[in-house]
Amino acid sequence: MSEQAESVIVIGAGIVGTATARALQREGHSVTLVDSGEPGRATSFGNAGFIAIDHVLPLARPSTLRRVPSMLADRTGPLTLHRASLPSLLPWMARFARAAYSPAEVQKGIDSFTVLMAEANLAWQAEIQASGLGELFRTLGALYVYESEAAFAAGEEERSLQRAKGTEFEILDGDAARALAPGLASRFVRGVHYSQGMHTIDPYRVVTTLVERFAADGGTVLRGRVRGFVRAGDRVTAVRLTDRDLSASAVVIAAGRASGDLTRLLGFNAPLVAERGYHVMLAPDNVRFALPVSPAERGFFITPMAEGLRLAGTVELAAPHQPPSWHRADILVQHLREVFPGVGGAELSRWIGERPTLPDFRPAVGRAPRLTNVYCGYGHQHVGLTLATATGRLIARQMAGEPLPAALAACEPGRFG
Ligand SMILES: Cc1cc2nc3c(=O)[nH]c(=O)nc-3n(C[C@H](O)[C@H](O)[C@H](O)COP(=O)(O)OP(=O)(O)OC[C@H]3O[C@@H](n4cnc5c(N)ncnc54)[C@H](O)[C@@H]3O)c2cc1C
Repeated sequence: MSEQAESVIVIGAGIVGTATARALQREGHSVTLVDSGEPGRATSFGNAGFIAIDHVLPLARPSTLRRVPSMLADRTGPLTLHRASLPSLLPWMARFARAAYSPAEVQKGIDSFTVLMAEANLAWQAEIQASGLGELFRTLGALYVYESEAAFAAGEEERSLQRAKGTEFEILDGDAARALAPGLASRFVRGVHYSQGMHTIDPYRVVTTLVERFAADGGTVLRGRVRGFVRAGDRVTAVRLTDRDLSASAVVIAAGRASGDLTRLLGFNAPLVAERGYHVMLAPDNVRFALPVSPAERGFFITPMAEGLRLAGTVELAAPHQPPSWHRADILVQHLREVFPGVGGAELSRWIGERPTLPDFRPAVGRAPRLTNVYCGYGHQHVGLTLATATGRLIARQMAGEPLPAALAACEPGRFG
């Protein structure tokens, strides 16, 4: 039995679902945000906090593939495979390789990310204002640092594209990088400062504050696992929880890594893997920098946050529900000792999260195939925090009848059949 008035049901209260619920609410919709757990406690809880609008070159490209063997060979490197998961990962990996080696697919990635990142910049500024999030954000940029001229040169592919797209950055020698991030080891010979970048000092509080504002402005927040849908032709009329149905004027699937379980019920595929990442929080002893710093070859961020110093990143490809490989978190701490010797105190906590990643590394944003009132916002991989508010705005516009920008055809949820 359905027991509430019809509303837009947003499934998933991570950063993507929550930002989307806010955007829809602003358009005048009655919105219900439903999550099987506590809002913001899944992947959106523990990210590195960086709004990475510089990220216009998709990871599915030939240069990433060329680096895979050396990354896998290095036990402390930025990429690893969960061995027992390998058979189930092979189909995804084959699709990833096909996308990365297809110039047309790479171009679609660049074009769609250019649109998404431009939207992200505007959308975050607007949401920070609208939801009073200012105290949770800092605009100090971000610093990427390099241990060799060769590693710095390898980043030129991305920098030349960024130059062409108008992204602002400054190239630094090692000493200038150390001036921006005091304590940085002398082994670093180059830095690139993205001065326009912004980061949050508490990603979890960003989600919970958005949820509070959403509820204060009349939105409904419900705890419950979505297990099915009630359909009438090309529409979903209700969302099925364990104990009841919720009447739906429209539905948004923003369930992170679990989104594929829901799309299957509606007849289309979302071949997501969990690109697992870890974080370690350390007491902020001797931290004399305030901006996020990424030692590029090591694949993680060192971000000063409200509660301490966060080391977050690296990738472990794994099937769902595998136990964490906590030595990956230990590796982050080992890296810090070499990157910022003497910086960071006692360990406060550690965490694992699952980046929801589609094989072409483009998110699914927009209307579901063959359904007139179902919309998607998942698959945001390494940049879900960055793209959350943009995703929400785009879905709200499409629901209002506006077409999405042409480049976003590359992010159609129906592209995997
Ligand atoms: C180590 C690490 C560092 C990162 N750093 C950055 C960064 O600096 N910048 C950046 O932009 N991004 C970063 N990311 C990526 C970013 O965190 C993710 O892309 C983003 O959090 C994904 O958000 P989401 O809302 O899609 O998913 P989630 O946060 O996982 O939320 C999905 C929600 O859906 C709910 N759900 C699932 N199934 C159901 C169901 N059937 N019924 C009801 N609810 C359901 C879940 O309970 C969950 O709350 C990082 C990720 C990691 C792991």
